[in-house]
Amino acid sequence: MDEIKLVFDEPKQRVKPPKHFADLAPEERKVLATELGIPAYRANQMSVHFFNHYNDDPDTWTDIPKDLRETLATNFIPKLITLVKSVTTDSGKTRKDLWRLHDGVLVESVLMRYSDRTTVCISSQAGCGMNCPFCATGQAGLTRNLTAGEITAQVVAAARICATGELPGGETRLSNVVFMGMGEPMANYNAVMRSIRNITTPQPDGLGISARSVTLSTVGLVNGIEKLIEEGIPVTLAVSLHTPDDELRDTLVPINSRWKVKEVLAAADKYEARTGRRYSIEYALIRDINDQAWRADLLGRLLKNRNAHVNLIPLNPTPGSKWTASRPSDEALGREAVHLEPGVGWTASRPSDEAEFVRTLESYGVPVTVRDTRGREIDGACGQLAAAEITSEA
Ligand code: SAH
Repeated sequence: MDEIKLVFDEPKQRVKPPKHFADLAPEERKVLATELGIPAYRANQMSVHFFNHYNDDPDTWTDIPKDLRETLATNFIPKLITLVKSVTTDSGKTRKDLWRLHDGVLVESVLMRYSDRTTVCISSQAGCGMNCPFCATGQAGLTRNLTAGEITAQVVAAARICATGELPGGETRLSNVVFMGMGEPMANYNAVMRSIRNITTPQPDGLGISARSVTLSTVGLVNGIEKLIEEGIPVTLAVSLHTPDDELRDTLVPINSRWKVKEVLAAADKYEARTGRRYSIEYALIRDINDQAWRADLLGRLLKNRNAHVNLIPLNPTPGSKWTASRPSDEALGREAVHLEPGVGWTASRPSDEAEFVRTLESYGVPVTVRDTRGREIDGACGQLAAAEITSEA
């Protein structure tokens, strides 16, 4: 098999994104304010505006003197993300937002309203270096890491959309955040952790969303899972397993060349033991690739004594699977050639194979759900986010 390229470090950046309030811990915000000659209580006022009222426009903060508002805007609340376009489906209950960052880089987030919750799926990197052949984001490579401010800003924007009643059904509260948009969160560990703290810290210093309502999904960077265990924040951990055997996983999730199935599950078990939180196993069902009865059986045996829940995701189409012929070569994209054959022409499992897969797992007592995938019509479903590619064509 060809050597598969994994990218852990972002390419050198031209201009760093401006520093933002949300890049800092609450104490650091106060320290910076004091250094700038601003009383520390102003940091609290900023928190109330930003994290409680979801207001990122200091110009409108009338409890703060006008000239100070400008200082705050420059030093603490620079505009990090600008909405380029929104596309909706499900009668408006699913909405994909395309954001432009300060350097023109594009990322996407997806907001989904359900009867009992509203979830935002956010991006932690522009592009991704993990190279999973069935994921559109991976096919485009890694552009750069997002800062904590840029990640948090997506959540604040979603919370604002919920609070202002922009979604059909009227005002609501943003209840869940999933790191399942563009990027591998564990490959941008520090910024992701800062943003998780911003999301879970009670108001006014954070958004006050409970850690159990935040899901971090990873390809299985074991060193990241080990670090997360030490943080003491019981977010829900999701591991993109996609097959129970190393042989196929080496191709489906190339990071498997570093950390094998056994090691990933051992790390997830340790996470479960320390946090008491059941973890999720994500499994994209790909017709005739990973959906065979014997694989369901092997997965059932692997998970039957573990505190894990399987989330099956019918494979969503990506440009690689739809328009292989028109895809630019890796050379044209300025990166080394990758193993391209996997992914070509792949599609979701037959309903009968999917049903059998579910039954087999259930026969082992393994809890399993098939993800009610949202946003396929707007290329907003799992693995379809590829903002940069779409707009460069437009
Ligand atoms: N990098 C992280 C988070 C991003 S994707 C991770 O891989 O876990 C969130 C989930 O969508 C992952 O389980 C990913 O494998 C899955 N996914 C990617 N492409 C997909 C596709 N085309 N169809 C269905 N699921 C896909």
